[in-house]
Amino acid sequence: MPTVITHAAIGLGLGAALRPARTGHRYWLACALLPAIPDADVISFSFGIAYGDFLGHRGLSHSLAFAVALGLATAWTVGWWEKRQWPETRLLAMLFVLLAASHGPMDMLTNGGLGIALFSPFDTSRYFWDWQPILVSPIGLANFLSPWGWAVIKNELTWFGPPTVLVVGLLLLHRRWRSRLRATTSIAE
Ligand SMILES: [Zn+2]
Repeated sequence: MPTVITHAAIGLGLGAALRPARTGHRYWLACALLPAIPDADVISFSFGIAYGDFLGHRGLSHSLAFAVALGLATAWTVGWWEKRQWPETRLLAMLFVLLAASHGPMDMLTNGGLGIALFSPFDTSRYFWDWQPILVSPIGLANFLSPWGWAVIKNELTWFGPPTVLVVGLLLLHRRWRSRLRATTSIAE
């Protein structure tokens, strides 16, 4: 896996660029957590579930089906909690599904561990992309606070940093351009 920090940072970046008119702490929390939550499946090791099992690490929790369910459930909960109207909740749902679904394809870029069960429960095969430039992140805090952990952080900054800054920057520019256009149009009216 890329580190939890990288998943969360990308979630917050996309969350800022694609944010709805109304945001709050629940929104930002969801943006940070949704792309990282699939890795909570490492707890399966404590229950004796093997890595390659259906519910093992990088199994069902890393699938697109799980991302859709998680994104929709989170959007519905945040929408209900904050009394949002349906069109606003629908936008949240699309964004939250995208954020949750970002995890599996990112893990498929890593160079270690087992592949990702992207199409589980329909197909439990484990997949990687053909191109795997990302150093696999160690499991466990002790391993993370080691030269391996530091090498992983530097590697992720190199591969994910520039594209994330570019995409989020372009989306923010587009957002600003659209709001200026709207302001100009309303003055003209
Ligand atoms: Zn993962």
